[in-house]
Amino acid sequence: MPGRNFLFIPGPTNMPERVRRAMDVPLEDHRRVDYPASVLPLFEDLKRVFGTTTGKVLIFSSSGTGGWEAALTNTLSPGDRVLQARIGQFSHLWAELCRRLGLDVQVVECEWGTGVPLEHYREILTADKQHAIKAVLATHNETATGVTSDIHGVRKILDDLKHPALLCVDGVSSIGCIEFKMDAWGVDLAVAGSQKGFMLPTGLGIVGVSQKALESSKTAQLRRAYFDFGDMLRMNEGGWFPYTPAMTLIHGLRESLNLLFEEGLPNVYARHHRFGEAVRRAVAAWELKLCAKDPKWYSSTVSTICVPEGIDSGKLVAHAYQRYNLSLGSGLAQLAGKVFRIGHLGDLNELMVVSAIAGTEMVLRDCGINVVPGSGVAAAQEYLRASFPTS
Ligand SMILES: *Cc1c(COP(=O)(O)O)cnc(C)c1O
Repeated sequence: MPGRNFLFIPGPTNMPERVRRAMDVPLEDHRRVDYPASVLPLFEDLKRVFGTTTGKVLIFSSSGTGGWEAALTNTLSPGDRVLQARIGQFSHLWAELCRRLGLDVQVVECEWGTGVPLEHYREILTADKQHAIKAVLATHNETATGVTSDIHGVRKILDDLKHPALLCVDGVSSIGCIEFKMDAWGVDLAVAGSQKGFMLPTGLGIVGVSQKALESSKTAQLRRAYFDFGDMLRMNEGGWFPYTPAMTLIHGLRESLNLLFEEGLPNVYARHHRFGEAVRRAVAAWELKLCAKDPKWYSSTVSTICVPEGIDSGKLVAHAYQRYNLSLGSGLAQLAGKVFRIGHLGDLNELMVVSAIAGTEMVLRDCGINVVPGSGVAAAQEYLRASFPTS
């Protein structure tokens, strides 16, 4: 097929040329004397992206799921109770991982398309006078539904109640795209992965750890070996890793951090906000509905779009790929067949976003959804023109 694939799933995302070139290097000695000089600044730079000066950021060779496991196994003990709201497939999978690790998971069932239920969390935590709940989990950006939750709101509840539970946040599809303030929000564990906001291949699980979480790791009893924070921190101190690091990816990480800082993090966040809004304007012009139930939950990185009754969104996603080489995200679990997703995160500019909307519009019409030709494109174009940053 001539031309290129249009990758608009919510991760893996498009990889910038500069990142790709930075990884086109021969393999190296990971024990060479000057390796730490290139590693040590990475930890400081990652802390900027996570919004922490007091915590640590650790780089594991794994996907984001390994980061979840690292966060939990280092800070909790068998049978510990954890609270998690099931708001979509990714929060479901994290709860499931907790269960497999032998934690006592208290799941709050929520309608998919809603965010972390603050009032419900408050009730449960208020009733937990004995502080049996050791960790409160929250999925910052639920990639299945296109919902961003209020993490600072969860922190305020814990503070109001003087509840000592750790606050563990899945930021895999938000960190590096949507502002994340680990210190200001009192996040104890924050998990990211390399193939979303960091615009890299899959393979790094990046975990932010607060001082309080580090303290917990000294007494936590869950089994861990590969993911042990202690081994990692001892070696990282000198700029080393306890095992062969994913050096090639780490070259890419250096370059992706350079790109984020050159653009400026506030500008990166503003760009993602604009692109999310452009896609939502198109969805409104198509007279389709988002899965997200309320504007306060709209995600800057992914839009989950409902298809009309009688249309199979799985077929739509397959058609987009087969006919136009456009990769859209499908509906996951209970949303299979009912929604499709446009990922708008990472290395994107205005015209790329418009191209995804143009392609989606063609696909919708091919699949019998009678949207007005050009309506979504026009709505997005006009919004992107009007909102273009001026200074
Ligand atoms: C992608 C994603 C994950 C899973 O990450 P993997 O790298 O696939 O292990 C977890 N949580 C969220 C919110 C995600 O978007």
